[in-house]
Amino acid sequence: MRIELVNLEHGRADFAHVYQPDELGSFDDRVSLVEPVTANGTVRLVGAEVFVNGHVKTRAAVECDRCLTRVELPVDADFELEYVTGPTYESSEAAELSDEELSVSVFDGEAIDVDEIVKEQILLAVPTRTLCRPDCKGICPDCGIDKNTGDCACETKEVDPRWAALRNLTSGK
Ligand SMILES: [Zn+2]
Ligand SMILES: [Zn+2]
Repeated sequence: MRIELVNLEHGRADFAHVYQPDELGSFDDRVSLVEPVTANGTVRLVGAEVFVNGHVKTRAAVECDRCLTRVELPVDADFELEYVTGPTYESSEAAELSDEELSVSVFDGEAIDVDEIVKEQILLAVPTRTLCRPDCKGICPDCGIDKNTGDCACETKEVDPRWAALRNLTSGK
């Protein structure tokens, strides 16, 4: 969904859309969507600046950094963005005018790409490090077993004699 600024009535337009998970195209490799995305907000044109604020809500899935288990996370985020056209931004007055709370982006001056905003906000809402649980034990680098679900012989420092016998059998060849 693109909102053309020439179509804004009285300088503003509201938007609301439910995106099916495949409608937003591919995300990065890390993140996938589990549920449709509900997005809504308002675009306002004030002089040479465009303000976009709104809300996105969905559920995303990412892999645990340690054990690669799929972890589902709720995404429920408000956003507030400010856009200026290239020339306005270069005049640098815009930078001074803008509130530090807002992130300023440069755009072509013609339209706001709501799809891009929604994708960006979902990626921002997903933490860069994700664990399935705080004490995730990860995967054994030697045998590949998920140590949350079972123990393996390799992690035992003092090798249990029964395991030792087994290991000798399997590795002895
Ligand atoms: Zn994990
Ligand atoms: Zn192991």
